[in-house]
Amino acid sequence: MAAPSVAAISVPQFVPEALAPEREQALKEAIRARLAAENAVLVAHYYTDRAVQELAEETGGCVADSLEMARFGQKHPAKTLVVAGVRFMGETAKILSPEKRVLMPTLEAECSLDLGCPPETFSAFCDAHPDRTVVVYANTSAAVKARADWVVTSSIAVAVVEHLKAKGEKILWAPDKHLGGYIQKETGADMVLWDGACIVHEEFKSQGLTDLRRAFPDAAVLVHPESPEGVVAQADVVGSTSAILKAAETLPNTQFIVATDRGIFSTLQRKVPGKQFIEAPTAGNGATCRSCAHCPWMAMNELEAMLASLEQGTNEIHVPEALAARALLPLERMLGFQGAR
Ligand code: SF4
Repeated sequence: MAAPSVAAISVPQFVPEALAPEREQALKEAIRARLAAENAVLVAHYYTDRAVQELAEETGGCVADSLEMARFGQKHPAKTLVVAGVRFMGETAKILSPEKRVLMPTLEAECSLDLGCPPETFSAFCDAHPDRTVVVYANTSAAVKARADWVVTSSIAVAVVEHLKAKGEKILWAPDKHLGGYIQKETGADMVLWDGACIVHEEFKSQGLTDLRRAFPDAAVLVHPESPEGVVAQADVVGSTSAILKAAETLPNTQFIVATDRGIFSTLQRKVPGKQFIEAPTAGNGATCRSCAHCPWMAMNELEAMLASLEQGTNEIHVPEALAARALLPLERMLGFQGAR
């Protein structure tokens, strides 16, 4: 059975409702009150919308990449975690904190990497390569994690594979082929790659980026490694969303061309005021969510939906106990590896 191709994955044409400032404020106030009443904390990804990120920061939650979200949720004493992101992030939070209630604004927020790596097909792929250490990206279902030896995020993927290569291990990597190819190039490891991709990052165009660099010759180019090889090759810095943020803060440049989901621009503008951030080119201003540089699933994390989930206790994440216990092993390896660095 072949894995679903990226082009075959159904992508929602989701456009979030634009809120009037008064309505946004009222929703924020109501959510703030419910978070306090429910002993809950909001954990949001950098790709969620500005209002969600602001609310997380204002209420003592966090805005982070998926690795930091996982660690923050695990360590925080709150009884309920409200995870604003996509489903695998909610699942990871639940696996790491089974005693906590994990709510999400919606359970329909998927990820093309997760959807493109069905557990049964992936398991058969692993069976076909029994001599390889199975390393999977965090953007996978609990069932795929349960089949893995290691889970990694883009923050530590290169370091983990370097570590495994030094021990003489050969790697089976899934699901993002671009990130896998980048790791392979950086480490020289013997890797077989699953054929998955992120529908947002895959749209960044190398020729368009070349043209844009000519227009902004002093701009540093910051690229997420889920982007195609020709885009990554033009980067001054390749890294996770956290690495992109750090580069924007620490490099002396005042202009940056950024190739990742445009949700990060609100974080960049808040945390690095006075610098200019320019979106790397995708397929243009076309009508589809495949070329708008914003994840349609991340956009589903609307304030209204978040309030409804908190008020009604809906959209709770459940992971079967046996599956969670198996998926916990590679996740703990990931957190332990990061902690030891
Ligand atoms: Fe998945 Fe890409 Fe959306 Fe991130 S931006 S959740 S990798 S589809």
